[in-house]
Amino acid sequence: MIKDNDNNVTPDNDDQRNDDNPPDNDTLLVSSIFCSIQGESTSQGAITSFIRLCGCNLNCNYCDTRWSHEGGEEISIQKIIETVTEHKSKYVTVTGGEPLLQQNTQKLLTALTKLNYKTSIETNGTADIKGINKNTRIVMDIKCPDSLMSEHNDLQNINYLKDTDELKFVLSSTSDYNWAKSMIEKFDLAEKCTVLMSPVWEKLSPKKLAELILKDKLNVRLNLQLHKIIWENDGKEH
Ligand code: SF4
Repeated sequence: MIKDNDNNVTPDNDDQRNDDNPPDNDTLLVSSIFCSIQGESTSQGAITSFIRLCGCNLNCNYCDTRWSHEGGEEISIQKIIETVTEHKSKYVTVTGGEPLLQQNTQKLLTALTKLNYKTSIETNGTADIKGINKNTRIVMDIKCPDSLMSEHNDLQNINYLKDTDELKFVLSSTSDYNWAKSMIEKFDLAEKCTVLMSPVWEKLSPKKLAELILKDKLNVRLNLQLHKIIWENDGKEH
């Protein structure tokens, strides 16, 4: 496992485990664990510990975390929690890739909530969210047409959202906006939970999206990727 000066942790496949601390059966395939400023969702701006899990079942054309689709390291839940503890953050976000592809993700979330962390999971909306710990805030995507992945949305998941959860539309264009607006109306989404609209970096301008939301008086939150603004989308993981 490699740590940089900012205490970011990247698994190293050659990392040798300590015999005193053998792997248990409850492991997850982890891409990285790091501490940063939350860039998205309603907890934007909060210091947050991120657990990025490996693997994804989609291939969105704007994906900015493709490196997390492969590789990674099996790490026990116990060791993941030890690393998170070092970050001294109240917030923990489990993300990916698609974290719900791994069975032990639910166990990790349950363990973290028992330790009183404010947990959230970012999911792409294609996997069943029913069994997620009720104390975990779900931030679920509904994929828009320009992602080229919208046919994979599992809209049954809408039925299992709590009012403390969040639905996110990542928009590449005005036509994506119009599609998202029609979905919000059709499924009464703004009454179910917080709805976020986030423009794809350098595809749809925040100003344009703000103007559309204001024109329609849409009951959503404009969500900019704060980490990309802070670090000027430098291609590194933040
Ligand atoms: S769901 Fe997320 S991680 Fe997977 S391809 Fe789409 S943007 Fe990338």
